[in-house]
Amino acid sequence: MPAAPRLGERELLALWESALPLHDTARAAALARALDASAPRTVGEQQRRLLQLLQRLAGPQLPLRAACPHCGEAASFDADLLQLLQALPEATAAADADADADAAVTVHELHAHDWTLRFRLPTPDDVAASPTCDDPVAALLARCVLQAEQGGRCLGADRLPPPVLDALSARMDELDPGAQLAFAVPCPACGATWSSAFDPGRALWPWLQTAAERMLLAIDALACRYGWTEDDVLALSPTRRNAYLQLAGTE
Ligand SMILES: [Zn+2]
Repeated sequence: MPAAPRLGERELLALWESALPLHDTARAAALARALDASAPRTVGEQQRRLLQLLQRLAGPQLPLRAACPHCGEAASFDADLLQLLQALPEATAAADADADADAAVTVHELHAHDWTLRFRLPTPDDVAASPTCDDPVAALLARCVLQAEQGGRCLGADRLPPPVLDALSARMDELDPGAQLAFAVPCPACGATWSSAFDPGRALWPWLQTAAERMLLAIDALACRYGWTEDDVLALSPTRRNAYLQLAGTE
C-alpha cells in the first residue's frame, strides 16, 4: 500500500475547496481519496476510507440523531467509529473468486436456485452511474453481473428473478461488508430497536466545513491584524496561532 498522503491544515483546506462544488456522490468519491489517492476497488472500501477520515476529524465518538420509525421520537446516540472500523474487515478474496492476482477485477460465482452467476462487486463508479429508475438496486446488481446462466442457457442480467437478486445482494454484502453501514438504535420512548442507515460521506462533510471555516476565520483575523498572508498563518503552530488570535481579540 502506498504511504498515506499527509493531511495537514493546507491539505484539509484544499480538500474542502475541491469538494465544495460537488454533489453527494462525487463529493464522497473525492473525500475517499484524501487518505489514499488510489481508486477504491469496492463501495465498502470507499466507506472504510470515509470512516477513517471522519474519525480523524470528529474523533472516535460521533454524536448522531435518528427518528424512530415506529413512534417518531428523536433518539440521540454516540456512534463508536473506532469499534465500527475495527469490526469492518476489508473486502477479501473469497473462496469463490478467481485467484488471479493480476486481474483488474475479481470475479465471483454464485449458485442460487437454478441460476449460476459470475459477478464482480459494485464499485463507487457503479453507484454513480446507476440510473434513477423504479428499482435502482436491481439495476446496480445487474450492472455487476458478468454472466448469468439458467439451466445451461445464457440469459441477460435483466432477467434475474427477485429471489436470485436477493441471493446476489446477500452474497455481495458478505463479500464487501462495509458497503451498507447501519447502527442499531434503541428508541428511548417506545423501546423498539431499529437499524439506522449511516452514510459516512454525508456525516463527515459538516466536520470538514467547520474545520475549514475555523482556518479561514483565523487567517482572516490575523491577515487584518498583522498583514500576514494565508501561508504565514498556516505556518504558525496551533499554540502560537491561538496566542496571536487572543492578542488580536478574536479568541
Ligand atoms: Zn419509538
